Amino acid sequence: MYKLIVILSLLLFASCTSNPTNDASKATSKSDQTRAEYAIVIHGGAGTILRKNLTPEKEKEYREAMDAALTIGEDILKKGGTSLEAVEKTIHYMEDSPLFNAGKGAVFTHEGKNELDASIMQGIDQNAGAVGGLSTVKHPITAAIAVMNNSDHVLLTGAGAETFAREQNIETVNPSYFKTERRWNSLQRILAEEKGIELSESDEPDDKKHGTVGCVALDKAGNIVAGTSTGGMTNKRYNRFGDVPIIGAGTYADNATCGVSCTGHGEYFIRYAVAHDVHARMSYLNESVSEAAGHVINKTLVEKGGSGGLISIDKYGNVAMPFNSAGMYRGYAKPGERVVAIYEDEK
Ligand code: ASP
Repeated sequence: MYKLIVILSLLLFASCTSNPTNDASKATSKSDQTRAEYAIVIHGGAGTILRKNLTPEKEKEYREAMDAALTIGEDILKKGGTSLEAVEKTIHYMEDSPLFNAGKGAVFTHEGKNELDASIMQGIDQNAGAVGGLSTVKHPITAAIAVMNNSDHVLLTGAGAETFAREQNIETVNPSYFKTERRWNSLQRILAEEKGIELSESDEPDDKKHGTVGCVALDKAGNIVAGTSTGGMTNKRYNRFGDVPIIGAGTYADNATCGVSCTGHGEYFIRYAVAHDVHARMSYLNESVSEAAGHVINKTLVEKGGSGGLISIDKYGNVAMPFNSAGMYRGYAKPGERVVAIYEDEK
């Protein structure tokens, strides 16, 4: 009888820890050490994303946009393209979509401007590039890649970064291109709140201050690249930068461990060097990507009051997408698997 109970318990444990294909948080066990041919993961920002705040039409738009973004990156990887190209083209799509807080659709500063940040890092050699405070570059992620590939620097900001982008013949637009009514209204509501004007519940901004897009990819050659692009946080001022243009905070990649792209309250992600910490935990403590990413998001940040999430891929193509907010726009694709999710109960 005792033996029977032990066997049944073991069987139950095994079935609980197996890999359901639609559950990214569990599809990351330590034993998963056969390398997937390729893998790609994206996020479109974490925050107070609740069912009651999204109409079915808006929800559908988000899911379709994430699906389309994944398809762009997956097609490149399938054909043997590089993870750098997959990350750049996938992020272009999200920067062009007014749904996300990056490129068109970016949030507004206190003064009513759009200031865009982006970063990229490749896991093969830790080469990295970042830009901060751009106001006319259509695709900030491309400017970050140019900094990585065509300059001696890692981070360029403001007017200098704009000049560099022009010298690199990177596409520019009139600053008004980035404006959307929805983000403008969010700023107006926050400014009203600051002045003590009471808001009714229906006037609450649906996106609060969070947003950002990110992508991490593993290509057939085994190279990991991570990229992140954002408008930052609504109502930011004094040329504030968050974690996105800070390598090690919002973005990190090392072929020996993982690639990471973050979203959330940037100041906390800078203080706790979140993206690098996921890599460090895997490297020093031999944790799996889901253990390392889960620890940083659900323990380190939660204990300090930092909200947000991250996406990560390890060298085998295992994916982790933890977040400690009410929701995170997210998804991943690898051969035979695709997940797109928004809410917490889809974990
Ligand atoms: N992390 C970004 C920042 O702090 C914002 C976000 O991801 O929502 O600028």
